[in-house]
Amino acid sequence: MKLMSALIATAVVTAVNPAFAEEKILNLYSARHYQTDEALYEDFTKQTGIKINRIEGKEDELLERLKNEGANSPADIFLTVDAARLAKAHELGLFAPVASKLLESKIPAHLRTEDWFSFSTRARVIVYNRGSVKPEDVQNYADLGNPKLKGKFCSRSGSHPYNLSLMASIIAHQGEAKAEELARGMVANLARTPKGGDTDQIKAVAAGECGVAISNTYYVARLLRSTKPEDRKLMEKVGIVWPDQSGNGTHINVSGGGMLKTAPHREAAVKFLEYLASEPAQRYFADGNNEWPAVDGIKVANPGLDAMGKFKADRLPVKNLAMYQTKAQIIFDRAGFK
Ligand code: FE
Repeated sequence: MKLMSALIATAVVTAVNPAFAEEKILNLYSARHYQTDEALYEDFTKQTGIKINRIEGKEDELLERLKNEGANSPADIFLTVDAARLAKAHELGLFAPVASKLLESKIPAHLRTEDWFSFSTRARVIVYNRGSVKPEDVQNYADLGNPKLKGKFCSRSGSHPYNLSLMASIIAHQGEAKAEELARGMVANLARTPKGGDTDQIKAVAAGECGVAISNTYYVARLLRSTKPEDRKLMEKVGIVWPDQSGNGTHINVSGGGMLKTAPHREAAVKFLEYLASEPAQRYFADGNNEWPAVDGIKVANPGLDAMGKFKADRLPVKNLAMYQTKAQIIFDRAGFK
């Protein structure tokens, strides 16, 4: 009799609690909003029968939302951009460790942690005005602090995750003293108070207001692929350098995600992460934002990226980028890089 009521209780729980039966649903919180992502999600549903409920938002807003929802969050997966933000989600204890042989074999070790995974990479390059700056003067990130470039350097805010991650990589490779020297040099070289995004810096470089700036590759690729005549004209004035090619390689950042600790649909969540590492998904995921696949050996035919050529990428583990974020912010603050 006891067993019978236990069975009935189980049956009731199954009926009431959808998570128990692993409904074919996946709740996705995504800070990515690219058109091609649509095709990506549809393909996943077609392959697995798992329907995706997607909530899109700005990176920091979604993180805040996850924090506030706590244990009651319906979210299974959190996708976002930048190693620093992914690391923040980790530090807040939002992610659950995922043990997947498939992810381990596909995502290179330096691009994953125990609870979040990179699915695409972007590089931070130097862009310069062909008329006012010689490429040989801007071959390395360290050159951005060279007094030769006084009054020529433009940048978005030092507090932006992209710049913090770059500085974190410099701390990891060269130590705090060198990093601070560079930060101070950059500030001394500023052509104007940091403002705008990476695209604004590229445009200001083209216009001659700045001689040199740093930008994520997908912003460069977007302009290189643009069919607008004014963008084409603009890019004729701009040279691109892959920094640190004879050293550690160009700094790369990532876009990625993980399964949440409170995920109601854990099986579906792992399946989704594994799907993102599959060949077609990698192509959609990376190419949708002019990025490179995290998985080795996947070819993406992207004229914008192709136009920039090949480069040596820094293989610093994404974990280390996260580790030095706070230090990077302290150094920028001390240097007055607002
Ligand atoms: Fe961006």
